Amino acid sequence: MTTSTFTGEVLMRAEGVQKYFPIRGSALFGGSKAEVKAVDGVDLELRRGETLGLVGETGCGKSTLARCLLGLQPATGGRIFFEDDDITNLSRSDMRPFRREMQMVFQDPMGSLNPRRRVGSIIADPLKIHGLAVGRELKRQVQGLMELVGLNPEHYNRFPMEFSGGQRQRIGVARALALRPKLIICDEPVSALDVSIQAQILNLLTSLQRNFGLTYLFISHDLSVVEHISDRVAVMYLGRIAEVADVKDLYNRPRHPYTAALLSAAPVADPRSADRRQRIILGGDPPSPAHPPAGCRFHPRCPKAQSICAHEVPALVARDDDPPSHRTACHFPVEPGDDLTHTPSSEQVEDATAAGAMS
Ligand code: SF4
Repeated sequence: MTTSTFTGEVLMRAEGVQKYFPIRGSALFGGSKAEVKAVDGVDLELRRGETLGLVGETGCGKSTLARCLLGLQPATGGRIFFEDDDITNLSRSDMRPFRREMQMVFQDPMGSLNPRRRVGSIIADPLKIHGLAVGRELKRQVQGLMELVGLNPEHYNRFPMEFSGGQRQRIGVARALALRPKLIICDEPVSALDVSIQAQILNLLTSLQRNFGLTYLFISHDLSVVEHISDRVAVMYLGRIAEVADVKDLYNRPRHPYTAALLSAAPVADPRSADRRQRIILGGDPPSPAHPPAGCRFHPRCPKAQSICAHEVPALVARDDDPPSHRTACHFPVEPGDDLTHTPSSEQVEDATAAGAMS
């Protein structure tokens, strides 16, 4: 866990955020218009100075949610607040002052940097766009940013190709820092890097957070990385938040069967604890977000599913025996001693699905 400066005060809040993508051609021949429900009713808070890890399988909607939060994609529904302002689907010009406060670091450093532009000019972009510096002062600020993220300021005129993968990610971090934002969304920022370089970038992010009081939303599918850097963790499944808790609480006592399955599959350093661990093998693939199951979206794969799960959406709430910060969207949260190693039988799935279809 990081030694961040988080205060508990809410910096950004998402309320019931939805993002649906129409499926092209689905309304042909008089059929109804089909949609992919990439994000479907997400409630989330980011507290000032914290790192909130956001985990889930590929395609669960993590990156789409991030883009909606930053206003890079319009939300289909719900509301997004930054500090006290409602920033949901603001126009480009109305969003401009908020754009300074929230930035993004992308997964693929090479893909997010124009290979034909010099690094100094790439990092200078936000400062130029917002009219914050020109000429010598611009160069001074850019070189200061390069130094801050561990790059040699003398390399101002080099091209991205002349840097290693880790250095290119430092360029992305410098560009994100240029406007001194309050919030940085890091979308899989280390997953394209070697393990030794990952640690350097994570340490850099941690020290920048300490020095500048930054708030991070840290998106990753790597549970060890998320455990290392996060204060709290939210687990996403098929467009919804399944569980959110303080990092230690979530890793020591996962309450949602999906979280328990994810953690059971994560590599651990100590082979003895790996041997003792309950391995939960989930049946089937994640369902398509174009046709999500009714009720709890996890029910066709859940070892604890019962018929109510197929027709009643579980609310994301804290249970009586959990701390208020630990919220789980599950009708039957995991209890100590639960055996989750069996996958639901096809009869169970059919019964649950039929119950959902009838409701
Ligand atoms: Fe499993 Fe039911 Fe909980 Fe969903 S609500 S995770 S199906 S027990």
